[in-house]
Amino acid sequence: MVDFIGIERIQELLARRGAARFIEELAREIETDYLRWGEFEKSARHASHSPVGVIELMPASDGRLYAFKYVNGHPKNTAVGLLTVTAFGVLADVETGYPLLLSELTLTTALRTAATSALAARRMARPGSRAMALIGNGAQSEFQAIAFHHLLGIRELRLYDTDPAATEKLMRNLARLRLPGLTVLRCGSTAAAVAGVDIVTTVTADKRNATILTEGMIAPGMHLNAVGGDCPGKTELDAGILRRADARVVVEFEPQSRIEGEIQQLPADFPVTELTEVLAGRAPGRASSREVTIFDSVGFALEDFSALRYLMRIHQEERGGERQIDLVPDLEDPKDLFGLLLAGEPLASAAPERVRA
Ligand code: NAD
Repeated sequence: MVDFIGIERIQELLARRGAARFIEELAREIETDYLRWGEFEKSARHASHSPVGVIELMPASDGRLYAFKYVNGHPKNTAVGLLTVTAFGVLADVETGYPLLLSELTLTTALRTAATSALAARRMARPGSRAMALIGNGAQSEFQAIAFHHLLGIRELRLYDTDPAATEKLMRNLARLRLPGLTVLRCGSTAAAVAGVDIVTTVTADKRNATILTEGMIAPGMHLNAVGGDCPGKTELDAGILRRADARVVVEFEPQSRIEGEIQQLPADFPVTELTEVLAGRAPGRASSREVTIFDSVGFALEDFSALRYLMRIHQEERGGERQIDLVPDLEDPKDLFGLLLAGEPLASAAPERVRA
């Protein structure tokens, strides 16, 4: 039997733990794994593009556990009542190759993305950052808001989305959460939202080279958490922002980010730093209070590996009814796979009887 976490179970786990604690614990797991970067077998994800979206497979292994995530990105889906991003994944034992956990990863992707954003921002944003603009108020946005409130101490959120209904939804959900000390302001444009903030999170969805942030919007000392641009031809920042003399760009896994990140707009030798270097203290996240720091996030398989291992642990800790799935046969004689077909009723003629002439 394989452990199974579906939507009902992840709702239950999140209700028991609370999203803020879940993100905090997950951030710790992700950081621990980024700190043992060299132990991982890493590769850029395998992406299958169509004119309207992308379907990706994201594997990672540390030699003991192996994980993969299936994830899609279809910005037009919301117009027909479907999510832009859905995902599921598997954690497996390298020793036997047997799957250990099959889990939903749609909610978990939003949680792990927010956790990774907060991890990067803790090292890159100015200490004492209190105001954040949140541009793009769709499915990922609440998770980013909770992570930055809880882990960074953000107390003012300035919201903008081209779809006013998305901002209304986010405001409604944040009001229900009652995050202590948080002021939420709705703004009429991106420029109005980012004016005077410490951090800007862009988490928009559009399958094109969008220019959500232009150079004129950026003030010295800002931290940009660019989450929405994560595919070839899908970016959010004006390339001029990345080229600023005072800009510092941090990416997750450089070979993947060169293809998918904001830096796809720049030459292949444009200098970037990997997140592992910053988390390990080998490179600064920020060198001065006037630097513009940019976390060019695309989402890396290691974060899903950490998330799946964390999910399996809390799933097993918080048992509440068996939630397993018979994904793999359990055999007395492993060579007798066919025996499974003979276990119940005598096999009803496997092949139709020849009709005799
Ligand atoms: P979503 O479709 O639910 O929300 C996106 C929102 O962006 C929508 O409300 C849309 O109206 C808004 N938007 C589009 N263009 C805009 C613009 N020019 N200005 C302001 N708002 C605009 O999508 P989601 O699930 O929230 O995902 C958002 C993006 O984040 C997607 O592009 C997705 O691929 C990406 N993503 C990245 C990671 C990562 O690890 N970096 C993880 C998950 C999702």
